[in-house]
Amino acid sequence: MLEVRLTKRYFPFKLDISFSINKETYNLILGPSGSGKSLTLRLIAGFERPDNGYIKLNGRDITGFPPERRNIVYLPQDLGLFPHLSVYENIIYTFKAKREKVNKGYVNTIIEKFRIADLLKRRPTSLSGGEAQRVALARALVAKPKILLLDEPLSYLDFHIKFQLMAFLQLLKNEFSPTVIHVTHDPIEAFKLADYLFILEDGRLCFEGDKYDLFNNPPLGFGEKIVKGLKIIESLRG
Ligand code: ADP
Ligand code: MG
Repeated sequence: MLEVRLTKRYFPFKLDISFSINKETYNLILGPSGSGKSLTLRLIAGFERPDNGYIKLNGRDITGFPPERRNIVYLPQDLGLFPHLSVYENIIYTFKAKREKVNKGYVNTIIEKFRIADLLKRRPTSLSGGEAQRVALARALVAKPKILLLDEPLSYLDFHIKFQLMAFLQLLKNEFSPTVIHVTHDPIEAFKLADYLFILEDGRLCFEGDKYDLFNNPPLGFGEKIVKGLKIIESLRG
């Protein structure tokens, strides 16, 4: 479904990746800060052009397509909600931008599932981190993207709110099942949510597979360190 094979250099950094995603799965890319996670998502979304290579969606080469023609939604780390619009106006923005009629049935389903009915008149700046994240996810889903790209969606949240939000991401996964690529530096998030897991280190993918494969057979470097960390957390249960 999605095939990515590309290089992109920002000297001295070089991203050199090749992977494909075949089904409507929830994919995690786990990597330390500076490993190229955001750059990977921006390339797939079309906000950057690769130096070499291609991006194909359902067999079609979309490498030269502008972002708005890709059917891919990128949710940046800062969420990108419009501060001058209400929550509701943010959520239906995609219809306005495309001059389409608002699909009220679908919008209401999403508002209900993400429990944002009480927030609709508020401005994004008045929302808590967890509320803003739910609104941003709702806005992204309303566009019915073929691929949803989530850039560290839980990293600004308090520990307990993080787990609340994970439940909403699980709902997104189970009830709306878009193809998701979620990037994070947080192994707990990755293990909780991933159907399929990639590890990115220094611009290269050094692991892909089932999360249990990683546990049993971690690659050297970042992969090995996070598995050690996860084992320590497991041991805290006493
Ligand atoms: P991550 O999201 O994993 O923390 P990024 O993808 O943001 O990492 O960045 C990976 C590397 O690419 C970093 O060394 C960063 O400085 C570099 N980089 C990314 N985008 C740019 C850019 N627009 N200009 C210069 N360097 C960039
Ligand atoms: Mg980043």
